[in-house]
Amino acid sequence: MKPLLVVGAGFSGAVLARELATAGHAVQVIDSRDHIGGNCHTQRDGATGVLVHTYGPHIFHTANAEVQAYVQRFGEWMPFVNRVKADTGSGVFSLPVNLHTINQFFGKTFTPAEARAFISAQADASIGEPANFEEQALKFVGRDLYEAFFRDYTFKQWGCDPRELPASLLRRLPLRFDYNDNYYDSPWQALPREGYTAVVARILEHPGIRVQLSTPWEPALRRDAAHVFFSGALDQFYGFSEGRLGYRTVWWEREVHEGDHQGGAVINHTRLNVPWTRVLEHKHFAPWETHARSLVTREYSRETAVHDTPYYPKRLAADHLVLQRYLALAGQESGVSFMGRLGTYRYLDMDRVIAEALALARSWLAARADRKPLPVFPAP
Ligand SMILES: Cc1cc2nc3c(=O)[nH]c(=O)nc-3n(C[C@H](O)[C@H](O)[C@H](O)COP(=O)(O)OP(=O)(O)OC[C@H]3O[C@@H](n4cnc5c(N)ncnc54)[C@H](O)[C@@H]3O)c2cc1C
Repeated sequence: MKPLLVVGAGFSGAVLARELATAGHAVQVIDSRDHIGGNCHTQRDGATGVLVHTYGPHIFHTANAEVQAYVQRFGEWMPFVNRVKADTGSGVFSLPVNLHTINQFFGKTFTPAEARAFISAQADASIGEPANFEEQALKFVGRDLYEAFFRDYTFKQWGCDPRELPASLLRRLPLRFDYNDNYYDSPWQALPREGYTAVVARILEHPGIRVQLSTPWEPALRRDAAHVFFSGALDQFYGFSEGRLGYRTVWWEREVHEGDHQGGAVINHTRLNVPWTRVLEHKHFAPWETHARSLVTREYSRETAVHDTPYYPKRLAADHLVLQRYLALAGQESGVSFMGRLGTYRYLDMDRVIAEALALARSWLAARADRKPLPVFPAP
């Protein structure tokens, strides 16, 4: 019997491999990188001893009880509240925009009701259904807050005018009229005590799973696999035959400091004349640990060049046209399923990719048992 081949050892690939192996299949997992964990990879820094989020800060948050219970099987999780600050050049403010931000920014002492009335007077009432990110922001928080917190930051992060971006990008950020400065609304928010890579290692620890690192996908591997589950980039799978899907890439500059450098895990820098988007001080992602020294990374964003790692799917109008062509090709597959952030070309949080990997495993196993067509994508 040929094994099932899972391409990618991030959360998508690892969870799917585990479910298939648990159902009795032999599963081979490959990854082009020399480590497991995908973009959630964490590693101990030699110079400081700090646990580093190698590919940017990853905060696990979910409202999905099944996913929460699932990840808790594979490690100890520590409660964590993500409190993000924004340096606008004229002060350091709390994000997402909340009562403290509003009072500090406008020099007021508003109650929640007063702040609500004030912001609604600031908001642009002439905008009906916002057509883009900028209109959404103007309708939502008004010009002053938009320009201080969102306009330049968005330009740096996405490399284009906020008017070219979809309104849906901003809908993700809450606006609060109380002093709650928790970045997320999810009821469960936590970080793994030993880091994400240790969790993924335990997920992959099953006698039915074989992991091979530093092994890029090649079409020839299809011959030796009963089915391929691909969590790499959809356009890469087809050799970019229909064009390239747009992604932003990010990269980090590393610094070592003594003591506490910035007093918190994440500070966004919202001005255009500061070239980085945010500064991360990794020891604050593990407040249960003590370290005399500190590892700090400055995050930058740019357009993805041919050899760059794709991080954030842009999903602009032109990308949708290209995506439709790849979806049409994928729809004709019978021995391949695509999954995860890159395989489905969507920005997905960790809890979502885990939920989708569990769902894909279930639907694939059920279809195979019933001799029905195998699913090409996870159910949305
Ligand atoms: C900067 C940043 C910050 C984020 N912060 C958060 C957060 O705070 N909270 C949250 O919930 N989510 C966050 N996310 C999202 C999170 O990273 C994803 O949900 C998660 O990584 C998706 O898992 P995945 O397995 O689908 O993809 P990945 O983690 O990208 O794993 C895919 C794997 O496939 C491998 N691969 C790709 N192509 C090939 C190939 N051709 N051959 C072999 N191997 C290949 C890659 O090397 C990689 O290891 C963040 C994402 C980014 C970019």
